[in-house]
Amino acid sequence: MADSKKKILIVEDEKKISQVIQVNLMMAGYACDVAADGEMGLQMALRGDYDLILLDLMLPKRDGFSVCREVRKTLDTPIIMVTAKEELDDKIMGLEIGADDYVTKPFSVKLLLARIKANIRRYSGEVVENVTPVAADEDKIVIRALEIDNKNFRVTKNGKEIELSNKEYELLYFLASHAGEVFEREELLVKVWGYEGFYGGMRTVDVTMSRLRAKIEDTPAEPEYIITKRSKGYYIPKE
Ligand code: CA
Repeated sequence: MADSKKKILIVEDEKKISQVIQVNLMMAGYACDVAADGEMGLQMALRGDYDLILLDLMLPKRDGFSVCREVRKTLDTPIIMVTAKEELDDKIMGLEIGADDYVTKPFSVKLLLARIKANIRRYSGEVVENVTPVAADEDKIVIRALEIDNKNFRVTKNGKEIELSNKEYELLYFLASHAGEVFEREELLVKVWGYEGFYGGMRTVDVTMSRLRAKIEDTPAEPEYIITKRSKGYYIPKE
């Protein structure tokens, strides 16, 4: 649940999309207003009583970039830009003109909510959840030949050390410490990457996963440690 009714401005001209977002945000405990064009969005945003602005890029009367630029002249309210996949380059530009984050259409409501929450928390100076997702609660996890020493952040296989990057390690440790549970890529992004992951998207999970598998699996194409559950996600079986 969101804390004490944070207020969100949705600037979106496609009614279907704004309605879906609005309903979901309200169910998550947020208060929201909707502006259906850029001009109206700007006027509402400039009132300055929103905790976050969800800003579509292609809008009638004034586009998302222009709205973002104008808002930034006077306010530092968190802005999440909403862009279509084919406007990928615009994403980068969105961040350059002062947006804090972006999501790509079509987006999952779950991920959108996670980003909204993270941006509001970051802005209000609250601690962002899952920034250090790997808690040192279990010092050592052994999965057959694989040994994860969470005190020294070392992973060995048959006693031989495997060099992992920080994220490869955190991903492995996260799955290992939740053995038997299946995680969707989006969940992994939120749980393992926390806020940082939002800039990389799902590809981040795929890339890290394939690097990790290349290092820990005997045959990465037929993984025995980290298993893919078709159209569900990844997991390490409970032994
Ligand atoms: Ca639009």
